[in-house]
Amino acid sequence: MLSTGASISSDALADVRERAYATLLGSALGDALGATVEFCTPSEIRAQYGVLRKIVGGGWLRLKPGDVTDDTEMSLCIARSLATVGWSPADIAGRFAAWFKSWPVDVGNTCRRGIARYINHGTLAGPFNEGDAGNGAAMRVAPVALATLADGRLLERWAVEQGHITHNHPLSDAACVLIGRLIHMGCTQQPLACLQREVQCVVAQFPSFRFTPFRGLSTAYVVDTMQTVLHHFLSTHSFEECLVATVNQGGDADTTGAIAGAIAGAYYGPTQLPRHWIAKLAPALVREIQALSEHLVERSPFGRGQPVVI
Ligand code: MN
Ligand code: MN
Repeated sequence: MLSTGASISSDALADVRERAYATLLGSALGDALGATVEFCTPSEIRAQYGVLRKIVGGGWLRLKPGDVTDDTEMSLCIARSLATVGWSPADIAGRFAAWFKSWPVDVGNTCRRGIARYINHGTLAGPFNEGDAGNGAAMRVAPVALATLADGRLLERWAVEQGHITHNHPLSDAACVLIGRLIHMGCTQQPLACLQREVQCVVAQFPSFRFTPFRGLSTAYVVDTMQTVLHHFLSTHSFEECLVATVNQGGDADTTGAIAGAIAGAYYGPTQLPRHWIAKLAPALVREIQALSEHLVERSPFGRGQPVVI
């Protein structure tokens, strides 16, 4: 059991704040990088780019370099909601609905169905659905991880509640919680062995997440998504290497990129985020991510002085 002690130093708080910033920014970078090759196969990517290492836009959504997609936009809905009203699934669902009505560049099918259900019936969760094991809840969980820093129980509750607005499936729930826990561990600088142990525990509980030997599938099925993210995060040694390897796998590359970017951002911290990638993002987006991440950390259990218990 690890603990920072009863009160946190301002240095420790500053470091966690920076890593929280790297979490959200890392996720947006992964989305912007991967969107170029979303739904491509690895060989199609090789033929067109060799190895995709730059944020160049394009792709099936015809993006400008640095444009982000639903992964980042839905994460921002949650982050803004948390920063404005604290924890309120109703407020989050309302923001999803407003976003959905604003003609976003892309909306996943399960998210679309869940948001339509909320608009038509006002419910904050649908019943269990075999088809809800997509990655759309997992891709947007990072802000919840930041808002619950130092409290794993709270993370579990909120990660699942935000997920159920659109996805009600145990594999989606497990992915949301695992991503959140890895972000908690990265932000509080736990050693890699801790993160590996966490992953192994979840794989033991949900054997479909097993990623060795790696099958190379990176579809929007949350199992494939998690295998891709976990394989590349645990077999690379820098933020950039992790994201490049992840998105060059193709498939749902903006979403695997967004999730890998959040985990690797937390783990490696902001100094590892490639500057030439950040320069492609809209400056207003980078500023908002900075403000939101600071806000979420300060209001989190960690920011209010709760010791870190892993
Ligand atoms: Mn997307
Ligand atoms: Mn996607």
